[in-house]
Amino acid sequence: MAAIDFRHCFLSFFALFLFTITPAVGNVNEAEFSESDIITRDVCIIGGGSSGTYSAIRLQQMGKSVAVVEKESVLGGHVNTYFDPVTGESFDYGVISFDNITVVRNYFDHFGIKLAPLVYNAGPQQYADFANATFVSASALPQGNLTAALIGYGKQLEKYPYLFTKGYDLPSPVPADLLLSYGDFINKYNLQALAYTAFTFIQGVGNLLAQPTLYIMKYFAPATLNNILTGSGFLTTANHDNHELYEKALAELGSSAFISSNVTQISRNNDSVRVVISTTEGRKLIRASQLLIAIQPKLSSLSGFLDLDAEEASLLGQFNNSYYWDSVVRNSGVPDNTSINNVDPAAPFALPPLPGIYSIGSTGLPGLHTVYYGSPYAISNEEVKSDILTTIAELVKAAGYPPVNGTAEFVGFNDHRPFELTVSVDAIKAGFYARLNGLQGRRKTWWTGATWQAHDSSQIWNWTEYQLLPKMAA
Ligand SMILES: Cc1cc2nc3c(=O)[nH]c(=O)nc-3n(C[C@H](O)[C@H](O)[C@H](O)COP(=O)(O)OP(=O)(O)OC[C@H]3O[C@@H](n4cnc5c(N)ncnc54)[C@H](O)[C@@H]3O)c2cc1C
Repeated sequence: MAAIDFRHCFLSFFALFLFTITPAVGNVNEAEFSESDIITRDVCIIGGGSSGTYSAIRLQQMGKSVAVVEKESVLGGHVNTYFDPVTGESFDYGVISFDNITVVRNYFDHFGIKLAPLVYNAGPQQYADFANATFVSASALPQGNLTAALIGYGKQLEKYPYLFTKGYDLPSPVPADLLLSYGDFINKYNLQALAYTAFTFIQGVGNLLAQPTLYIMKYFAPATLNNILTGSGFLTTANHDNHELYEKALAELGSSAFISSNVTQISRNNDSVRVVISTTEGRKLIRASQLLIAIQPKLSSLSGFLDLDAEEASLLGQFNNSYYWDSVVRNSGVPDNTSINNVDPAAPFALPPLPGIYSIGSTGLPGLHTVYYGSPYAISNEEVKSDILTTIAELVKAAGYPPVNGTAEFVGFNDHRPFELTVSVDAIKAGFYARLNGLQGRRKTWWTGATWQAHDSSQIWNWTEYQLLPKMAA
């Protein structure tokens, strides 16, 4: 007799409950809007980050009219560029690198933005156990042949080429190795020497060793691996200003971009979509033939305004997420050309516990360091800021760095939650992603973004270009 899956029953019940009681998502009353507040477009895009902006620009190039709704005052999502008033220089501390592939080159060329090879300029690397402010020598960390481990990892990646171009179009059954925890996977294939490197490059995923290998492979993809192996391959903007892409995209989109705007209601039927937004110029109604959702598809992010049906709610309600922050600290007390990496020599592969800091990085500009922070569970921004400043002060004291003028302060701080969206191994085995892919095009609605490919802008644009947009255009 088949066992009853109570979790599934609960989720379905919850989905039906939500579907029935959510008050703000009934039919949109068009009579409430004057003609001047009604915008008619082919596609309404929710979210003007990496995937939403790319889709908007490409759909316009393909002859479609668009409306992009972005809650922040700028486009760009996880792109954070710091402009230093002291030196007049800028640097990126959110999204930094892009793969050297056709969609990336075409996108930047379109806006006349020059790309250049990414050069790591972090200065001397130090290692410390941040939990007790103890500096350790690099030789005290787990040793091993990193190059051999990376090459071995590359051979594993070659088994799953579809992971890097086709979103989550997974075979059935899903290969067992992809369902192993990443810790078990690297032990199985004797890849222990790459664990700390993976931790430093694949940030923001919560507990790296506990995540299913599927998610880590999609993020720690061949392009990133080649970059680590060869020390080159990534591109960045020549001016160290990735935000320029989004300023130019905003200018090109003109009155089709609604920034500082919130979606309050979306209703869909088989013919069209109605989106009500609250903008700086009042409420507007967008009538569109299609909807493209380019925000992280957590149930909690969408249920307040989207007329979810039971299938959508039951799928999106299964997502868990990790937490990730980036920041720039002025006057940290860490010397300008020094970077400090967090390690725990007593832990497996020396990976430090999270919540915690990944690294404090030299920016090449005087008095400024980047600090990256991750957590597997929710904590407040105040807690993160306090932990960062306390930890830095203890490290500076322990190192005996010379005093600096001024006190440590944040000049950049961004909360990137919800970051990596994952579901349980049981759900993956049970065909979660086949059902999720089944949402594409259903109810005039399409979906893009990190959850549909990987936390990698180049991969997202490539997938959007070749897998999604042709279907939308058809
Ligand atoms: C610190 C950091 C560094 C990274 N570095 C790199 C890197 O070097 N290279 C790389 O390729 N990738 C990098 N990534 C990952 C990559 O940038 C992301 O995966 C990518 O931005 C995801 O694109 P997206 O469109 O799914 O989401 P986002 O870019 O986050 O876009 C979502 C947008 O939707 C908006 N939004 C959310 N809710 C609503 C709402 N209700 N209404 C309207 N708008 C809404 C958000 O404000 C945001 O602008 C990095 C990520 C982080 C956090």
